[in-house]
Amino acid sequence: MSRPRVGVLALQGDVREHAQALERCGARTVAVRSPADLRGLAGIVLPGGESTTVSMLLVREGLAQPLAGELRAGLPALATCAGLIVLARQVLDGRPDQHVCGVLDVVVRRNAFGRQVASFERPVDIAVLGPVAFPGVFIRAPWLESVGPQVEVLAHVADADGHPRAVMVRQGAVIGTSFHPELTADDRVHALLLGRCTAPSGTSTGAGAAGAAAPQVPAAAVPLGVG
Ligand code: GLN
Repeated sequence: MSRPRVGVLALQGDVREHAQALERCGARTVAVRSPADLRGLAGIVLPGGESTTVSMLLVREGLAQPLAGELRAGLPALATCAGLIVLARQVLDGRPDQHVCGVLDVVVRRNAFGRQVASFERPVDIAVLGPVAFPGVFIRAPWLESVGPQVEVLAHVADADGHPRAVMVRQGAVIGTSFHPELTADDRVHALLLGRCTAPSGTSTGAGAAGAAAPQVPAAAVPLGVG
């Protein structure tokens, strides 16, 4: 079986770590810096970094619209931390001019667990990954304040007050995490993405062959967590 061709958005952030994790899972990786780089991908990773910078660069490179189009058409994706913020329908505590793609029907709160000092590591129970907790690395991490009806919440962690906060979601073939799976030796989150990236290379996108449901963005959203 040929190795799926998976893009890593390479505008900013921990691109190399994601590429290494994907390669360990059997993918061939491609750096995505321009709309042309989106051609023939079976999937894509949007790394963490700084969401206001990433969104500004996406617009500047002319990638924001084509990338959103591919994701809406069903291109499988993993969006981590700032990547998740960029895909949200709405950002709380963002910058007023911050561009969001609106691909995921979620409201995300930036720096929700606090600033740099509040970065932390914690085991996260993720049922779709099996019984062993995942080593969650949270760096100025967002949480999901609310999600739409088509969004599945895959994991929570408790905030400083002990309230469960959503930190991993899936809508169609797009997975979003508040934490950084690429900074661990545990490749299960990347393998989850690769499980959807079955398209033969050479097709325009992985959408059709992966059989992914196109994410929709309905208006309604349900509140999450407590308090
Ligand atoms: N807090 C950052 C932002 O708003 C995200 C941090 C990260 O990606 N580690 O963009």
